[in-house]
Amino acid sequence: MVQWPWQRRPVCRICGADMTRETVAYSAPDAEGRPRRWEGVVQYSCPNGCTTGFLDFRRAFVVGEPSSDRRLRRQQVAWTVTGILVAVGLVAMYVLFMYAIAAIPLAGAVRIGLWVATTVGFATVGALLVLPARRERIAAASAQAPAAATPVSPGSRQTPA
Ligand SMILES: [Zn+2]
Repeated sequence: MVQWPWQRRPVCRICGADMTRETVAYSAPDAEGRPRRWEGVVQYSCPNGCTTGFLDFRRAFVVGEPSSDRRLRRQQVAWTVTGILVAVGLVAMYVLFMYAIAAIPLAGAVRIGLWVATTVGFATVGALLVLPARRERIAAASAQAPAAATPVSPGSRQTPA
């Protein structure tokens, strides 16, 4: 690689020799203990063997994020958006039903009966929508702990762009 004058090569702080520059890959677990691999890490080391070597992560990028992780996150976002839309739709429908029952000329007892029936119906639908999602989230949280410990298989690794 050509060394331009403005690309100052660092020198060893102990012996003053020009440090050798090598682009390497670096593997380490991230904060959550999952294996992570950095590409484009520049390793500087002293040719005379001093302990002044260091790693430059300025141009490094992470590769090997399990694609299932990314898919799961996208799925969670999609489900959250869907959930919000369903909730808004359900509330709007409930309000519309209540308004319609109030607007239709009915006997007082019939109107109250319809209001109660509509409220119970919507509450049931709401509970049926919310409860399985909550149960699933608890199951996912407990299943995630052992899954994080398993090593990433080479097949699921993403090739760097
Ligand atoms: Zn040195």
